[in-house]
Amino acid sequence: MQLLDGKFVSEKLKQQIAIEAAEILDKTGRKPHLVAILVGHDGGSETYVASKIKNCEKVGFNSTLYRYESSITEDELLKKIDEINQDPETDGILVQLPLPKHISADKVTEKISPEKDVDGFHPVNLGRMQRNLPSFLPATPYGILLMLQEYGIDTSGKHCVVIGRSNIVGSPMSILMARNTNPGNCTVTICHSKTPDIKKFSLDADILIVAIGKKNFVTADMVKEGAIVIDVGMNREISTETKSGYKLYGDVDFENVAPKASWITPVPGGVGLMTIVGLLKNTLASAKKEIY
Ligand code: NAP
Repeated sequence: MQLLDGKFVSEKLKQQIAIEAAEILDKTGRKPHLVAILVGHDGGSETYVASKIKNCEKVGFNSTLYRYESSITEDELLKKIDEINQDPETDGILVQLPLPKHISADKVTEKISPEKDVDGFHPVNLGRMQRNLPSFLPATPYGILLMLQEYGIDTSGKHCVVIGRSNIVGSPMSILMARNTNPGNCTVTICHSKTPDIKKFSLDADILIVAIGKKNFVTADMVKEGAIVIDVGMNREISTETKSGYKLYGDVDFENVAPKASWITPVPGGVGLMTIVGLLKNTLASAKKEIY
């Protein structure tokens, strides 16, 4: 078994991003600028946004964080996004999900200008992705592609099984793995909560990508010998063992699955770190006007 080491790869790619950001500053006198919006006080969201902001600093980007209480109305939030859409000093906007129930995540996602949609969730970017046109790719699937690329893993002709079909991970991941690109060119099966016998499919997977949000859902008996296993799950549990008071678990039973896998991502230290790289690369591409 070999580790798909998100810590190692993300550090390497962030060094390259920092070099490009410095070049942009040299040429234009300005840094790439990411604006993040956080509504409410969800513990996971606070951690993820703080990490995104910290990483912006690390690679030499500007960042701005707008924080709102959960009482903000949908209208107020949409107006703020409109304002940031118009700001020429902003290259990327992200609104951390989930949002409170009275705010439609779909409306918010669609309000962000596709040209600044560095999370890659806007239907215009998803449509362009599907057509294989230049687009901001959703940050997590993008991070996974970058990881496969860095390790030189040839995905062509492989059977890729994706478990989970969310708009932000499973669904775009399945499209990307089926596209005529590298990584890509897989035969893809997508499983979800209505799939009766997931094991039947997962056992045939050369590449198994799991994004459902259920701790240790994938057990060793569900995985083929030699499979590549990518665990997107981030299940937070209260713990007395860590300084933060939380421990992260993946959707894959790492300890028992790892001996069967050819390659596997750990949690933490895997896909989560690569998601941030996907976000930074999208912001850089926006600053360089590479997509639009
Ligand atoms: P989500 O929107 O809740 O979607 C979960 C998906 O899993 C749905 O498609 C659901 O099926 C499917 N599912 C749920 N239970 C299942 C079961 N027992 N068997 C088969 N399929 C099942 O979740 P998400 O946003 O994609 O996130 C998934 C996990 O990835 C979470 O742990 C999240 O925290 C993590 N995540 C990590 C990163 C990262 O950077 N590492 C980024 C985003 C998300 P239905 O469609 O039928 O309901």
